[in-house]
Amino acid sequence: MQKQFTLSKMRAQNEQLVRYFITMGDTEIEMNQYIGKKIKIEFTGKIQCLGCGREIRKSFHQGYCYTCLMTLPETAPCILNPELCEAHLGIWRNKEWSEKNCLSPHFVYLSNTGNLKVGVTRESQIPTRWIDQGASQAIIAAKTPNRFTAGQIEVALKKIFYDKTNWQRMLKTGGDISVDLQKEKQKLKTKLSPDFMKYFFEDNTITELKFPITNYPEKILPFNIEKEKIFEGTLNGIKAQYLILESGKVLNIRKFGAYGVIFSAPSIADSF
Ligand SMILES: [Zn+2]
Repeated sequence: MQKQFTLSKMRAQNEQLVRYFITMGDTEIEMNQYIGKKIKIEFTGKIQCLGCGREIRKSFHQGYCYTCLMTLPETAPCILNPELCEAHLGIWRNKEWSEKNCLSPHFVYLSNTGNLKVGVTRESQIPTRWIDQGASQAIIAAKTPNRFTAGQIEVALKKIFYDKTNWQRMLKTGGDISVDLQKEKQKLKTKLSPDFMKYFFEDNTITELKFPITNYPEKILPFNIEKEKIFEGTLNGIKAQYLILESGKVLNIRKFGAYGVIFSAPSIADSF
């Protein structure tokens, strides 16, 4: 089968194994079915803004034109840096969007993503956010009424914990560094300032995520869609937003949002 479409972030569903789906034009295709099979993703040379659909030469914020980068609420500075959120002051790019996405409950969490890291996410983005980062385990440390407060707590905790995923290691080892998240959370608690203690989240449930991967590569070769054009080989697995080939080549689907591609793979009938 062959499909031409514009790449966008994979949708994921947490089951015994995480299930991944790519929207290919008007249909959504489950990617797990191609694990162990040959796939090919070819860049058409076209980039189309995920916000306004205009054809562009360079994309910003994983798939947007410069105008959309500067105006859409989805690409506001507080998306990457929650502590910059001003929605609680009534300042926003889009009132309705910010009321739903910034002035709603947020979590500060600890996760195991090739290292131990701290992060912030909207309550409704759980477990999507953890899947997108390739976390094998996560625990909620604080619950706040808005994005800004969660960002402030994260900033305070960045002195003790990483805030970035070690993605190369996450793809190589399966993120299985040995860490006791409940213990780390207690350590975190002792570092919270009195102002933030009221947001501490008592529930110590650890969420475990299992990714569909047959073999972790020994060496990671990040694929650059602009330079290499064709991503081709046997699909060994999927983790975070990466397709992992047997050769160790990895394609970050999210990074190349807005890129036009042609996807080819055996149709399922062929594989039996
Ligand atoms: Zn645009």
